[in-house]
Amino acid sequence: MEASIKRRKTRAVYIGRVKVGGGAPISVQSMTKTDSADVNATVRQIKELEELGCEIIRLAIPNHQSALALAQIKKKIRIPIEADIHFNPKLALESIKQGVDSVRLNPGNITDPDAIAGIVKLARKANIPIRVGLNSGSVKGWYKSTLRSKIASGKGIPRSNWQAISESALEYAKYLQSLHFNDMMISLKASDVVTTVNAYRYVAGKCDYPMHLGVTASGTIEDATIKSAIGIGGLLLDGIGDTIRVSVTGAPHDEVKIGYKILQSLGLRKAGLEIISCPTCGRCEMDIVRIAEKLKGLLRHTPSLNGKDIKVAIMGCVVNGPGEAEECDIGIAGGDGFGFLFKQGKRIRKITESKIVTELVKEIKAL
Ligand code: SF4
Repeated sequence: MEASIKRRKTRAVYIGRVKVGGGAPISVQSMTKTDSADVNATVRQIKELEELGCEIIRLAIPNHQSALALAQIKKKIRIPIEADIHFNPKLALESIKQGVDSVRLNPGNITDPDAIAGIVKLARKANIPIRVGLNSGSVKGWYKSTLRSKIASGKGIPRSNWQAISESALEYAKYLQSLHFNDMMISLKASDVVTTVNAYRYVAGKCDYPMHLGVTASGTIEDATIKSAIGIGGLLLDGIGDTIRVSVTGAPHDEVKIGYKILQSLGLRKAGLEIISCPTCGRCEMDIVRIAEKLKGLLRHTPSLNGKDIKVAIMGCVVNGPGEAEECDIGIAGGDGFGFLFKQGKRIRKITESKIVTELVKEIKAL
């Protein structure tokens, strides 16, 4: 696929060795769902996510014990950590001391200007970025404290939730700028897709900070996939977004897989296996669903695919089959109980239906 999306120009920040913004590939991140103070369980989960290609991991830091665990966790994993901080600025300070690679501050509940200045001072010393991470569910804190005069005068009050989120983020960013700190990213998450998209679009037009995209609290896997594909995907199509986190009520592994799928669907990240399979119809003479699912299952953890982009077509008949199969690295165009194997644009041989999956795996691994 031609990647024709023109990305918004942003500053670059570094979360550990991962460049975010400034034209860097859009990174996929997730959040652990373990107790961050439980070093072993958290490291185990992060290692599983690393295997799936997770590039940045965020950890909830709700108390002092979890902040203190960060240094030990960091030693045992490869990807950078972002500490997720709410309510207590001291937890941000401790996380930075423990060597975390980024901190996320929620402007809804980290509102004391002196405390924020203290965090900024330490982040600057540690050379790490801060994410200004708005959530629609907790937007009121900063909004109330910073826009109090506007509220009192009745002028300039944001009329909708997306405006409140956007204005709060821009005010917070302005405060960090007044401290001569620009090493920041912004996120503006709401559980409602339209609110989320409006907020990101608005703020993207007002600054050049990289954007961390996500639709928050988007539900269990089916709802989360759809909401994220529309919300994150829509923004990416606008060229907005530098790192993404899909939020799923469920395993974080799904967050990473869906994240890559979204990027892959838009031609923005291509490492890995992409299966193009036809929806089947009355012309189909092979069990395409079984073949596609079996192949996907078998190749899920194939190490030889690491870092390679391989496109596989599995098509049910000769209508679109040969055309699609020719354009992929490997393809099957189905017939009655057999399929034609295509490899790098050329028709190679005929394979009986029962052997298609095994033969495809062999061919793909050989690539
Ligand atoms: Fe139907 Fe053939 Fe198209 Fe598949 S490739 S949907 S079987 S016409």
